[in-house]
Amino acid sequence: MTANNALERSVEHRPCAHIEWCVGRGRIGTGAGRSTRSLALMSKTLYCWRCKMPIPMLEESEWERLAPYLTNAIEQIKRYREAHGVSIAEAKTAGYGREALALYFDITGFRETNPDALWHHRFALFGPPCHNCGKPLRTPQAKLCAECGAVRPNFSSSGLAEARRST
Ligand SMILES: [Zn+2]
Ligand SMILES: [Zn+2]
Repeated sequence: MTANNALERSVEHRPCAHIEWCVGRGRIGTGAGRSTRSLALMSKTLYCWRCKMPIPMLEESEWERLAPYLTNAIEQIKRYREAHGVSIAEAKTAGYGREALALYFDITGFRETNPDALWHHRFALFGPPCHNCGKPLRTPQAKLCAECGAVRPNFSSSGLAEARRST
């Protein structure tokens, strides 16, 4: 079931449109000379290992705005199921997560189609970029890179905040 979901979503994501979006906002593929500082206030695009593509990740302040809509979406499903006695699948198609997706688009400019994916599109859940392959470590505490196997150099939890800020 998970594999099916991933497949469906990778199609819905339309990677080409997404890459254009990234370049348009100066996030990727534009080479040297870009100031990362000027982009610091915008949500950051990271490679998502679950979605297998670059995805705009929410900053904590943005996540705090979005989370209530996701929580609310689960409530919506529960209420809809209680009222209509239908399956989760049916309740989902009745508009689950629509507000959360709309807000995510407002914040990032990226059209996500699966509300469940928003739960993990949160910058704080990821680690700094791998020194070897450049993909973000899967957690801030990761001691090695799950993508390429490289061991994280000089890792200590006290250096964590600094490492994240320098990305
Ligand atoms: Zn993802
Ligand atoms: Zn790596």
